[in-house]
Amino acid sequence: MTTHDRLRLERLSKHYGRHQVLHDVSLDIERGSFLTLLGPSGSGKTTLLKVLAGFERCSAGRLLLGDADITSLPAERRNFGLVFQGYALFPHMTVANNVAFPLKVRRWDRSRIEARVREMLELVQLGHLAHRKPAELSGGQQQRVALARALAFEPDLLLLDEPMSALDRKLRADLQIELRRIHRRLGTTFVYVTHDQDEAMTMSDQVAVLDHGRLMQVGPPETLYERPENRFVAEFLGRSNFLPARLLAAEGPGSRIEVAGRTCRHAGPVPEAGHGVSLLLRPEDIEVRPASPGDGWNCLSGRLQIRTYFGDRALYQVEVPGAGTVSAYAPARPEFRPAEGDEVHLVWRAEDGVLLPAEAERS
Ligand code: ADP
Repeated sequence: MTTHDRLRLERLSKHYGRHQVLHDVSLDIERGSFLTLLGPSGSGKTTLLKVLAGFERCSAGRLLLGDADITSLPAERRNFGLVFQGYALFPHMTVANNVAFPLKVRRWDRSRIEARVREMLELVQLGHLAHRKPAELSGGQQQRVALARALAFEPDLLLLDEPMSALDRKLRADLQIELRRIHRRLGTTFVYVTHDQDEAMTMSDQVAVLDHGRLMQVGPPETLYERPENRFVAEFLGRSNFLPARLLAAEGPGSRIEVAGRTCRHAGPVPEAGHGVSLLLRPEDIEVRPASPGDGWNCLSGRLQIRTYFGDRALYQVEVPGAGTVSAYAPARPEFRPAEGDEVHLVWRAEDGVLLPAEAERS
C-alpha cells in the first residue's frame, strides 16, 4: 500500500436499514493535512469516521489511499491510528505498556519498542509518568497517552473522534495547541471529528462541514467563514446576518443590489440565476454610525434595541425596517455611543458582503 498519497472519498453513501446517514460524500484529504469533520450532532461525522477506519462498510462509493482501493480492507489492515471514545486505555497496564501495546502486536523488537515508547511519551510530554496506571492520571493526561498509543506505530492516518469532549474548557484549549504542535512535528494526516466550530477553526487546515449526511462545503477555515457557499455553513460558523436582497444589474466588476428596499453596491461573486438572493453580513463587517455617509451607499438605518458589552467589543442589535434585527460589533471604546432606542446607521463595504442563493436557505 502506498503511504505517500491522499485519501480519496469517492461518493460514499451509508444506510442503516432504510435510513440514509451519508449521501454521496466526496472529499480528498491531502497527505499531512489536518482535516476536521464538523457538523451538529447526528450529521454523520462519526459514521463517516467509522467508514474511514474500516469499522463500518459504506453502502456505495469507494475509498482510495493513493492508488489503492481500500473500501473493503479490514480495519486491522489499514494502518490507521485511532483515538475514539470507545478506545479507552487498558486500565491494568502502565502508561508505557499502553503505548507499547500496538508495537508488541506488530512484533517490533524490544529495544525498538523501548525507544519508540520513550520518544512518544516525550512527544506528549508525559515521559515522567511512564510507570503510572491510567487511573492515576488526569483526563487530559489520559488523552495524551491515547494519542501517543495511536501514533506509536507510525500510522498513515490518525482518526480522532471528539477526543476532548469530556475535558473542561481550559484543558481543551491546552490540548488543542498541543495537538497542533504534534501534527506539525510529525506531518501525519489527521482527521478529527467535532461539533465545536471554535475547535475546528483553531486547529484545522481544512474543515469539511456536514449536515444530515451531506457535505455542505470543504475548505480552509478562512474560506468557510468569509466565503460560505450556503446558509448552513454561514450560520454554523459564527454569527451572521441575512438580509433580503435582489440583484438589480451588473456594474463594472461588481453589481448593484437592492437590500431591504435600498439600492446598494456589491463587489463579490454573484450566485447563478435563481429566484432571490440574500446578503450575508458578518457583525464585524458592519459599522455603526451616527449619520448616513455622504454618498448614502450601503447604508441601512434603524433603531438600536440592545447593546451588549463583552469587554473587548460590544454587540449592537439594531431593528431595521424591512430587514429585521441586524447584529453589528462595535469596538469596546467607540467614539459614537448611541443609547438604546437611538437611531443609528449601519454601513458596510461592498466587498465584505456575501450573496447567497435564496434556494440554499432553510426556514
Ligand atoms: P454524529 O457523529 O454527527 O453525531 P452519527 O454518525 O453518530 O452522527 O449519526 C448519524 C445518523 O446515523 C444519526 O441519525 C444516527 O442516529 C444514525 N446512526 C448512527 N449509528 C447507527 C447505527 N448503528 N444504526 C442505526 N442508525 C445509526
